[in-house]
Amino acid sequence: MLLIVDNALIIMVLLIFIILILIFITGNNKKSYIVREFYSLGTSNQLKAYGKNAIKAINQSIKKVYEIDNKMSVFKINSEISKINKNAGSQSQIVGDDTYYVIHKAIKYCLLSKGAFDITVRPLVSLWGIGKEGQQIPSSNEIKDKLKIINYKDIVIDKNDNSIFLKNKKQEIDVGGIAKGYAADEVKNIMIKKGIKSALINLGGNILVIGTKSDGTPWNVGIQDPFRTRGEFALTISVLNKSVVTSGNYERYFEVEGKRFHHIINPSTGYPSESDIVSATIISNNSIDGDGLSTGVYIMGVQKAIKLIEEIEDVDAILITKSKEVYVTSGMMEKFTITSDEFVYKNAV
Ligand code: ADP
Ligand code: MG
Repeated sequence: MLLIVDNALIIMVLLIFIILILIFITGNNKKSYIVREFYSLGTSNQLKAYGKNAIKAINQSIKKVYEIDNKMSVFKINSEISKINKNAGSQSQIVGDDTYYVIHKAIKYCLLSKGAFDITVRPLVSLWGIGKEGQQIPSSNEIKDKLKIINYKDIVIDKNDNSIFLKNKKQEIDVGGIAKGYAADEVKNIMIKKGIKSALINLGGNILVIGTKSDGTPWNVGIQDPFRTRGEFALTISVLNKSVVTSGNYERYFEVEGKRFHHIINPSTGYPSESDIVSATIISNNSIDGDGLSTGVYIMGVQKAIKLIEEIEDVDAILITKSKEVYVTSGMMEKFTITSDEFVYKNAV
């Protein structure tokens, strides 16, 4: 009799012990996801990291993003990019490794997109002033005038002394279409060095995921419905260790008589891109590649874009058109789900 009571007691104590451990583990798990939001690179950003070094990794990452913004913003008069622009047509500017690397990569995507992506587009971007006070439709003469100085082939880079030179006076570069991608890659490197195995990096909607979610399942990334308010998705994709970058006409724009003028400028016309694409997502290992490609691909239109992306290894695209069709490159076929019945999948070939 005594023995039975003893056993029951032991089992009870054991059960309570197990329950306490479980509560501790789940409570601890919840706590160890650290999330921080901050403003930089002209947009709001969010870093979410899991693991014991999460706070340190996030703090160091935020510092790095601020540093990149200080070096590469066209809005900061002392940034390296502003110095390059100020010296256009007169002398070269020596820059740090970060800025040199970003410009070097940007030129690669200018070439690949045959000038659809062109970082010398800055004079046109500021003429339109989209998203800024004083945004307006410029006169066609003003546009023609600026078009004369848009040409990435006038960027001279020299790796011997890390210098950058713009051949013509008044030329200006703008790495706004690629710097967020670089920043995301740098954040990822910091996180990995700190031993973080699971993280979600979101720099103004440019997403880069590390590993899986804490429960071991892939991250699901929503692709914004370009026709609806922020947070409503057209589709979702399932990714491990990938960057997901979208260029869309819904980010910054103004409307005149029902026509939308958005912030992605076609360097061959001087006007906001009017291709069939309204949202171009690039899925790649490195975010700098995704960012550099998404802007150019947006301007190129579906057929040329699909052809270009299929040729690049380990890079995929999801394109949404004005008529709500979804085009996907072969590597993404199994990995996306259309979540809004307004959109239809179209075979790209
Ligand atoms: P977002 O900044 O909204 O994430 P993008 O990566 O597509 O989107 O970059 C758009 C920014 O790139 C614009 O705000 C402008 O500064 C710059 N830009 C606009 N048109 C071009 C272009 N054709 N080539 C390179 N940069 C561009
Ligand atoms: Mg881009």
